[in-house]
Amino acid sequence: MKNISSNFFENNNIFKNHLLRRVSVLLVITMLVLTISHVYNIKNLEAQAQALHEKETRSKEIYVDGEFIGELRNEENFDEVVFEIKENLQFKEGMDVKILNDIDIVDSHAEDGELTGKISILNKFRGKLKYDVVAYGIEVDGEIIGELPSKEMAEQLIEDIKAPYYEMTKNSDDVEIELAQEVNIKEIQAHKDDLNNYNELLYYIQKGTTVEKTHVVENGENSWTIASKYGISVSELISANPDVNINLIHPGDELSLIVPKPYIGIRTKEVAVYEQKVSYETEYEKVSWLYNDEYQTKRNGEYGVVEVKAEIIKENGVEISRNVIEESTIEEPVAEVLYNGVKEPPPKKGTGYFNNPLPTGYISSRYGPRWSGFHHGIDIASSTGTPIKAADGGVVIYAGWYGDYGYLVEIDHGGGFTTRYAHCNQLYVSVGEKVYQGKTIATVGNTGYSTGPHVHFEVRKYGTTMNPSAYIGTQYN
Ligand SMILES: [Zn+2]
Repeated sequence: MKNISSNFFENNNIFKNHLLRRVSVLLVITMLVLTISHVYNIKNLEAQAQALHEKETRSKEIYVDGEFIGELRNEENFDEVVFEIKENLQFKEGMDVKILNDIDIVDSHAEDGELTGKISILNKFRGKLKYDVVAYGIEVDGEIIGELPSKEMAEQLIEDIKAPYYEMTKNSDDVEIELAQEVNIKEIQAHKDDLNNYNELLYYIQKGTTVEKTHVVENGENSWTIASKYGISVSELISANPDVNINLIHPGDELSLIVPKPYIGIRTKEVAVYEQKVSYETEYEKVSWLYNDEYQTKRNGEYGVVEVKAEIIKENGVEISRNVIEESTIEEPVAEVLYNGVKEPPPKKGTGYFNNPLPTGYISSRYGPRWSGFHHGIDIASSTGTPIKAADGGVVIYAGWYGDYGYLVEIDHGGGFTTRYAHCNQLYVSVGEKVYQGKTIATVGNTGYSTGPHVHFEVRKYGTTMNPSAYIGTQYN
């Protein structure tokens, strides 16, 4: 037993020493680990603190047009500054603005105490502020011709340009009013001083420019109707046609026009209903008592009336097309009926023999002295409109108004003889015209110095009056 126990003891000692050594090693390792981890932990905390600080001091440097104006904690702070400046500016200008300054925002770091105050940065920015207003341009065929402060005003302008055309077409149906040009309202940047005055811009657009045009005169037109058709005055029409006597224009004549062309034209389409005259036909009735180149009215023609429904297209108030949709007769025209002779007329020259120019009339005053002075012809009375015949053939040397004579015709018969026919109502011949004996040259009237319808008939030999009664029915030449 003793042996075993001593042995055991010995063995146990060995074991003890061995264990102690191992524990020590372990301890040392543990301590080492702990130390390392501690150092590591401290370092880690420091890094964390640094990172936190970095984050907390992040800031933004603000540069306006390349110049530093302050430092703020974040971009949102600067957005507030910009917003406030813009608000104040828009309030002051009464319209939208666009800030033009070049703004740079640069990342940086700063402690709270190093940051710029809001008031300070506001003032610095205001000191450098550059801006345009946001305006609305009137763009016509791709070109801005005016600028207004708001979209509403620009839209109102377009309406005001159209307005007169609503008035002009108010009596028509299915009216369409559209702009003749491509017009857009465009948001633009503008200097406030460059904006247009509303009324001035409206006037400028409506007045526009002028263009040259040619008008071919149509039946029934005169200088006044032509001028008003193009919205110009008669004097403007005259000055555009210096070589034309504007009072003597005929269908087919060409006139120059300088007409206004507004910058924004208006095209109107309307359906109009109106009454229109319809011309009448002329019918002829052959009679034996007239020559074949003579006519006399049996019945006057009467114009008919139709109601027309038409689509009319105008540009700037000037008609450019008319398309008749419907026509209904209100009154049929009544044909004019004319008597026309069958007799071949005699040669257009003097026969040397005078006939009575108004055989159906009666002599109301003879040739010779009267209480009022010498009477140089005979007066043959008849009702107004009765045909006056040439006493003999010859050449018309006067046809027109002649003072106390009223409407007068004078015919040269050759051999120094002329005849005069005065106080006429209508003249059928003109100067230079050759007439035959018995030709209707005029109708009885009461023009000039006259107290009732009659023809004052004179016979003159080399300009001196002779007694017509002595010549009627005689061979004078
Ligand atoms: Zn007389």
